[in-house]
Amino acid sequence: MMINKFKLWLSSRYDFPRQSLAAVSLSSLPKDPTFMYHSIGEGLFNGSSIADVAAHVKKLEQTWHLKGFDPRECLTFTFDDGYRSSLPAINMLLNMGYRVIVFYPLCDPEFRYLPKDCLRIVLDRLSVGSVLRIGDMRFTLHCAARHSRRMLAMRINRFLMMKYSLADYLSVYYEFHNVYRSLLDVPCKEHALMRVDELLPMLFRTNLLKLGAHGRAHYRFDRLRNMREMEVEILTPRQELERVFDVKVESLAYPYGLYTPAVESYAMQHYQYVFGASDQDGMNGNGSLPRIGLDGVELVAGA
Ligand SMILES: [Zn+2]
Repeated sequence: MMINKFKLWLSSRYDFPRQSLAAVSLSSLPKDPTFMYHSIGEGLFNGSSIADVAAHVKKLEQTWHLKGFDPRECLTFTFDDGYRSSLPAINMLLNMGYRVIVFYPLCDPEFRYLPKDCLRIVLDRLSVGSVLRIGDMRFTLHCAARHSRRMLAMRINRFLMMKYSLADYLSVYYEFHNVYRSLLDVPCKEHALMRVDELLPMLFRTNLLKLGAHGRAHYRFDRLRNMREMEVEILTPRQELERVFDVKVESLAYPYGLYTPAVESYAMQHYQYVFGASDQDGMNGNGSLPRIGLDGVELVAGA
């Protein structure tokens, strides 16, 4: 029964523009909204604590009960990037009976961190005047302020995303992990990825938890240029997740929410995904599941 329900839910289609709970009245949300988080807790990248998540759920439950629906039948929560810090929130939601999808990017198991997180962590420890070499570019940190580090991280990220083809991006990605590993001997637990042995028991414990793909190197899917690149970033992550976790992977979240009609069509028709998930405006075709970002959202009274 549970499995059939879940399959039905996986096959559902939604179409509504990107909205945040802060900007929209809860009562105007569709009956079956899907929400999106990243990492949970204090840190560079996230805006929500586990207390925020609990508050979101409480508010949503009140509203859905008022609408006359069982919130467990309607609401879905997703967590992108496979951050380890999101595990307690995921457990809490599963224990409350909610459906959860973890969109897990595939990294070489030796590399436990995502490039963007490595970048922030490295920059946090870089001293003023130090030069960071990435590919053929050199970046200098001119000021110790947190804001300057953030701006530099954004510049480097933009550089990585805009300049490189997938092949070059992957080589810089590996090079960057080496820079990272050579600079740090203390790992940052908060931004570590969930380990296979942490996720596996949860996947077996409940049908409410599903695993989705999220690319190999978190590269922009709208920049994939040919079938070979689509295979590398879209098809093989799914195959490898299915092999490692021994579960069926039916969904993918597009990194940064970005994709093209060709990417969507390949993912759905040739690579047999049931749906893809995005949080970008106007990008939701037949095979996509729009999501509402809850990172850092504070619920205002009366929302
Ligand atoms: Zn992501």
